[in-house]
Amino acid sequence: MIKVFLNKRISPRVVNGHPWIFSNEVNIIEGETSGGEIVEVFTHDKKFVGRGYINPKSQITIRLLTREKNEMINDDFFFKKINEAWSYRKKIGYTENCRLIFGEADFLPALIIDKFNDYFVIQTLSLGIEVWKNAIINALQKIFSPKGIYERNDVPVRELEGLQQQKGFLTEPFDTNIIINENGLRFNVDIENGQKTGYFLDQQDNRKAIEHIVKDADVLGAFCYTGTFEIHAAKYGAKKVLGLDISENAIAQAKKNAALNNLENICSFEAINAFDALKEWSKDGRDYDVVMLDPPAFTKSRENIQKAVSGYKEINLRGIKLLKKGGFLVTSSCTNLVSPELFLQTINDAAKDAKRKLRQVTFKAQSSDHPIINGIENTNYLKFLIAEVL
Ligand code: SAH
Repeated sequence: MIKVFLNKRISPRVVNGHPWIFSNEVNIIEGETSGGEIVEVFTHDKKFVGRGYINPKSQITIRLLTREKNEMINDDFFFKKINEAWSYRKKIGYTENCRLIFGEADFLPALIIDKFNDYFVIQTLSLGIEVWKNAIINALQKIFSPKGIYERNDVPVRELEGLQQQKGFLTEPFDTNIIINENGLRFNVDIENGQKTGYFLDQQDNRKAIEHIVKDADVLGAFCYTGTFEIHAAKYGAKKVLGLDISENAIAQAKKNAALNNLENICSFEAINAFDALKEWSKDGRDYDVVMLDPPAFTKSRENIQKAVSGYKEINLRGIKLLKKGGFLVTSSCTNLVSPELFLQTINDAAKDAKRKLRQVTFKAQSSDHPIINGIENTNYLKFLIAEVL
């Protein structure tokens, strides 16, 4: 097996349990590597650190899979890890739909698996995990006997690893338009053409969190995708709900979802740029009891954090202006680059500019099937705030 010796000075990150080792932390690689192999990693003074996969083409040269000296990386390892992740999900109450594997938080870096009842959608986002795709599929077959597995590897980050973007069936083909249940509602999921893996499971608990604040409310939801928050609002007693998204496809799905739940009399949807709509409508003096905002990540790089913050401030300012006194703002951010503190600060700045006061109802992260591990920053990414706007 290829042996890797680290530099004398390495980041405390590695020592504290983070699985990533960057190229500038590697001193010697003993053996030939073209990328994707399992390697053994040692400190400069030859102490065992762990085993992981290597990709010299990637900035993250090694991602560790184990720190146990006796644990070998083979098909059984992947079976064991996936089984453990499944036991954990069941223990914390996620059985039907869940993120079964959340990469680093399940100790399988760069692997994502979403479970939609009997169907599974997987993303192998690095070369080293791509190599084990068959082992992963076999483990899923053994544990779940799924009706279908689909690969949504049409993601640009794969190119940083020297991998192609691709999507397709990993089992016999099946109808990729499926229906899932969530909080007593039904939703269409388009596994093949939906965004990301088809559905945002990370907001599943937060959608339930709006239960009490939407009763009899006139609700506006911006960045609604397939209308999941909006349809929850209708189920929880909203009088009228309008959802906005820039994607025509998403709006078509949202309308289908409203009909699927017999809530099309309460919910309507419009394909429109939410930035423009929020701006114009706040000028027009429209007002709502509840405004919900769930925009995409405005940045993927640290250099653009300020741009992202301006984006959040802008839409939240408009959202706050659209609220009646005593209305509720429901607002999210899904990039780990904006910390919870910075997010709250940004919303408070927006409220200040609008000359309004906020009273926090709840502030949460993503649903618990996406575990957070202290010290692994990208696992703590979603912010979800409900605040009364006075
Ligand atoms: N709330 C959704 C997820 C929203 S994802 C859920 O829980 O399922 C973010 C959405 O914002 C995407 O559907 C994307 O199409 C939409 N979007 C991106 N830019 C937009 C814009 N300028 N105006 C309106 N929608 C936009």
